[in-house]
Amino acid sequence: MAKVVVVGAGPTGATLALLLVQRGIPVTLIEAAKDFRRIFRGEGLMPSGLDALEQMGLSPILASMPSRPLTGWEFIIDNQQLFRVEEPMWASQPCTLVSQPPLLEALVAEAQKCEYFEFIQGVAVKDVLKVASRDGEVGERTRIAGVSLVNGREISADLVVGADGRNSLVRQRAGLRLVSQPHDINVLWFKLPAHPRFIENNFFCSILNQGAVFSIFHGAEAGTLHLAWVLSSDDPSDGQNQNWAEVFAALSPAWLAEHFIDSADQIEPPIRLTVLVGRCPSWHQPGVLLLGDAAHPMSPVRAQGINLALRDVIVAANHLVPELQAGKALDSVLTKIQAEREPEIIRAQHLQKQEARQGELLKNNAGLRSLIHHFSPLIRPVARYSWIKRQKEMRQGVTQVRLTV
Ligand SMILES: Cc1cc2nc3c(=O)[nH]c(=O)nc-3n(C[C@H](O)[C@H](O)[C@H](O)COP(=O)(O)OP(=O)(O)OC[C@H]3O[C@@H](n4cnc5c(N)ncnc54)[C@H](O)[C@@H]3O)c2cc1C
Repeated sequence: MAKVVVVGAGPTGATLALLLVQRGIPVTLIEAAKDFRRIFRGEGLMPSGLDALEQMGLSPILASMPSRPLTGWEFIIDNQQLFRVEEPMWASQPCTLVSQPPLLEALVAEAQKCEYFEFIQGVAVKDVLKVASRDGEVGERTRIAGVSLVNGREISADLVVGADGRNSLVRQRAGLRLVSQPHDINVLWFKLPAHPRFIENNFFCSILNQGAVFSIFHGAEAGTLHLAWVLSSDDPSDGQNQNWAEVFAALSPAWLAEHFIDSADQIEPPIRLTVLVGRCPSWHQPGVLLLGDAAHPMSPVRAQGINLALRDVIVAANHLVPELQAGKALDSVLTKIQAEREPEIIRAQHLQKQEARQGELLKNNAGLRSLIHHFSPLIRPVARYSWIKRQKEMRQGVTQVRLTV
């Protein structure tokens, strides 16, 4: 049986390791962080991501996680509601916020029930191991044959999967190129006490006012609102030392403004999250495969990254499991995995960009906002219809993804 090393225990690495080890394939999963409580992990799972977890047989685990469904999406421009759309639109389940740290912990605990699973936590991968190999047609070439860790340990493998996120070390050390795309935004992330209105009715509320944009919703864990303040990509602000309660209140409808002022002391200083968007022209080399953000870092717009990563994992498992179980050469299936996943990734990145561009256009164009304000009865149904239309592919995916192994 061939052996796999998975680098990174985020959503991509933890689910792939679990699927492989449950099918009898020896896996070593390596995670640099000491625990899963990273400074920030996205929580939004679209119906396609929930479906992927269900297909992996993880519904019982999911049901035991701190989670909270969204009840809908609301857009408020210059203090006037543009439109509102109720969840779950056409899906059988709504977009749901799921706390990632306990989910990742539970996935690893599940994998630990299997034989031939090793989890190394709190030790980063430092490099990949390269060997020269002979290939009948190509001649002599380099093959990745494992990884070395910062503590000096070396682990050999038939396949190394780089699931180590957008700044992937595996990608860099394997010489796989990332073509990054210009993107329009970065984000300041805030947490603050919950408001009763979001507890009862958790709308993802996007507010655009006086050239500022932010979104607010109740997170998966009880008692906390999350607020994402959108920065233009050339804005270097880290958001420290500002009176944010007053800033938010000045931009918000009265009921929410009051909450910002009342909870001013409890608004945590923001975390600046730098967005990276791109795709690797090739996701693989002999002996190595990139999946999730390592292959295609995603923007946060409309919660796509985790969902696409989970769908990458299903497609990868479909192709890899038969080969690994047979101990066969893997390189030809790596090409098939990329080919099957790429169209959906390209489409999702395109839709994310469209959505971000529209936000930026409205943010920077007071004339356009005033037009919307004055003609909102006419504009509202058109804006609502075109927004809903674009969501379909971002919620349920573009291609058919079925776990077959
Ligand atoms: C502000 C923001 C908000 C977002 N919100 C959402 C959302 O709500 N929903 C959604 O679907 N997507 C969201 N995304 C995108 C999402 O976070 C990513 O697409 C997703 O986390 C990708 O998962 P991954 O497992 O591939 O990578 P990651 O989640 O980045 O996991 C990679 C793991 O590898 C580990 N690692 C890194 N280097 C090494 C090393 N050398 N050795 C060992 N381990 C290593 C890291 O510690 C980490 O645990 C958001 C992104 C941003 C920037």
